[in-house]
Amino acid sequence: MIVLNYHELTDSSVSNPWCLNRDLFDAHLAAYSDRIITPAAFLAQCDDRESATSSEVVLTFDDGFESDYSHVFANHTSQSGIRFVSFIPVEHVGRPGRMTWAMIDELSRHGIVIGSHGLAHIDLTSAPRAVIDRELRVSKSILEDRLGRAVDLFAFPYGKFSRPIWDLALEVGYTHLFTIQLGHHNGFEPFLYSRLCIKNTMDVDYIRRHVEDPCRNRGMGWRISSRLGIYPALMRWRFR
Ligand SMILES: [Zn+2]
Repeated sequence: MIVLNYHELTDSSVSNPWCLNRDLFDAHLAAYSDRIITPAAFLAQCDDRESATSSEVVLTFDDGFESDYSHVFANHTSQSGIRFVSFIPVEHVGRPGRMTWAMIDELSRHGIVIGSHGLAHIDLTSAPRAVIDRELRVSKSILEDRLGRAVDLFAFPYGKFSRPIWDLALEVGYTHLFTIQLGHHNGFEPFLYSRLCIKNTMDVDYIRRHVEDPCRNRGMGWRISSRLGIYPALMRWRFR
């Protein structure tokens, strides 16, 4: 399985590299629509190492942008049944361009999985432990209270994480933690999931090639350490 990570979708072209024109997003979607699986199917299969090399696609959206609701949900979930994961930075809910609690609740009631993206969208690797604990714990409890269901997924803001942070996230009760790195979904720990963070310079051909071979753009260090079987140990040391 391959996990893709989008952000805001707009009607116009913008300078923010992580913001995509809706037409480009729709073209991406058309390129892999037959491979999309639901978050529920992903969660049911993600521990299976065999499925890690399949080319099924899981869609995730970060930062709680209003386009999760007004475009992806309104046009693609309603018409084609496409489901996705939406990671919410709780303190950004209701801000201009972001979803309201009513929108997030509607997504949740229609099979969209809501995950936490913390409270204030800060880099957790440079925060004191008490702040990290609050970002993980309070965002989870607010989302759970608002939605009336368990929130078990967390995406690290800016994809930044370390071992003390993931240990705390597991302690708080998250079961699946999402980063932004190239490659297949399974990271070097069973609960860590790599995602391709999509930029607006990635055209349909790029996406098609990535879905065919998610590791094609990974570096020589990864190729050699994977072949030698030492990649997980190296990464655990790097993020210690
Ligand atoms: Zn984010």
